[in-house]
Amino acid sequence: MTKPYPDPQLTAAGAIERARAAAPSLARPTIKERVAHLARLRSAILARREEIIDVVQADTRKSRSDILVSEIFGGLDVVLWCEKNAADALADEKVPTPLTMMGKKSLIAYEPLGVLLVISPWNYPFYQAIAPIALAIAAGDTVVYKPSEHTPLTGLIESLLEDASFAPNWVQIIYGDGAVGADLLAQGPDKVMFTGSTATGKKIMAAAAEQLIPVELELGGKDAMIVFDDVDIDRAVAGALWGGLTSTGQSCTSVERIYVQDGIYDVFVPALVAGAQAIKQVVDADGDGDIGGMVTEAQVRVVAEHIADAKAKGATVRTGADWDGSNPLIPPMVITDIPGDALIASAETFGPVLPVYRFTTEAEAIERANASDFGLTGSVWSKDLDRATRVARALRVGGVSINNVMATEATPALPFGGVGNSGMGRYKGVAGLRAFAHAKSMVIDKDSSVIEANWFPYTKEKHELFTQMMLAWFSDRADRLPRFALFGTKLENYSKKARR
Ligand code: NAD
Repeated sequence: MTKPYPDPQLTAAGAIERARAAAPSLARPTIKERVAHLARLRSAILARREEIIDVVQADTRKSRSDILVSEIFGGLDVVLWCEKNAADALADEKVPTPLTMMGKKSLIAYEPLGVLLVISPWNYPFYQAIAPIALAIAAGDTVVYKPSEHTPLTGLIESLLEDASFAPNWVQIIYGDGAVGADLLAQGPDKVMFTGSTATGKKIMAAAAEQLIPVELELGGKDAMIVFDDVDIDRAVAGALWGGLTSTGQSCTSVERIYVQDGIYDVFVPALVAGAQAIKQVVDADGDGDIGGMVTEAQVRVVAEHIADAKAKGATVRTGADWDGSNPLIPPMVITDIPGDALIASAETFGPVLPVYRFTTEAEAIERANASDFGLTGSVWSKDLDRATRVARALRVGGVSINNVMATEATPALPFGGVGNSGMGRYKGVAGLRAFAHAKSMVIDKDSSVIEANWFPYTKEKHELFTQMMLAWFSDRADRLPRFALFGTKLENYSKKARR
């Protein structure tokens, strides 16, 4: 039975104002004190894991193991990373002060941003709540969190936060659809972290621009898996099955295009077909099932449209061809002979579909993988690590796994995000945690009596000395430092005397 936190009747009206009023009570405690709440949250999640799986499964039709592995384990990973790393990542960072500014100290102070608006999609409703909340709390930001209307997990997150003794309004869960999200954004949060479709991401960015609100956009993907002919085929097939089918293919980083090199294509495809046929699909009660069903009817329709279009354009559906086009338990579908103009070749399918393409050369694989408007993540498979690394570096994406799949997002120390239509900004890791903070640059000058040489008055003599000092400082001469010291001292002495 879930408990209400802080108030089950919270509505969008005044939410950002309430979060702003609560902000000082979160910014005041030390990072250590803040992450102590995250430790309690971790304990609550561990203790209540079965209940969490029940609630997520009821909203998503996922298999219990999918929820355990990706949503709960993944969320805990981010929480624990924050506990262990936030204090260091957000500590004042000393940076070098140039000799030209001798006697001063330069540092970056990472301060809370204020109020973070988090708008999430329906595909990982637990993870997409816990990960940004953990990072925001570690950074000292209060959160207004709007889950997808399709997967509200009603009452669950509030109840876990209550167990973790979060103060009221540190995190508010505001339920509702896109209009509620738009209303919250219009209230002027200090930043918006949006995860969802590219189309909505563009609307969010346009609305945020009106108020110059910074955005993090984690959008869609069309991730490529490039398999060279020297791989362990069984392992690569197992990777393709998991990468394409986990969460029933409803992951932003799902494998959506599998490029297999000529030499193994005719062995790889039958092995993939056999593996797809062996997937156990059930909305299970005990963890004994690989994948469940689709979360929304709308996404079922998208998959049906992609499959019908591919079939009409001559593609071969090698498994799951008897799917009726409407059952949310869409069977894994291996598809080959896909023409370039098929929807499935370029648009995000977001379902349990494994399109396989044949390629010959390394250059061709890179070119075809990069021929996408999306650029979230990808994977490269080869025993030749030099080649795999070379190809990985050539891909226009936010992250690449080598000889693994969806592994970059499973590493909480790595920043996560994409390029192109996959969005902008990074969250997670040090860079992602700092993205939820305000980097304030500071210069501390201990010496209060010296009048700086670059301050007024400007005179002809000062101009000449400054020129000599500059020529020395920026030159490549062996004696640049002594010359800099000589003209720098002269300039300083002159400046002291030149006061009007
Ligand atoms: P969506 O864009 O339809 O909705 C996402 C969220 O935005 C929902 O909470 C929705 O209510 C809200 N919303 C809709 N219109 C809005 C508006 N005008 N103003 C403010 N909020 C608004 O996306 P979805 O269908 O829920 O999710 C699927 C998409 O999410 C896929 O494209 C998938 O690739 C993407 N996704 C990306 C990542 C990532 O990290 N890159 C992760 C998961 C999902």
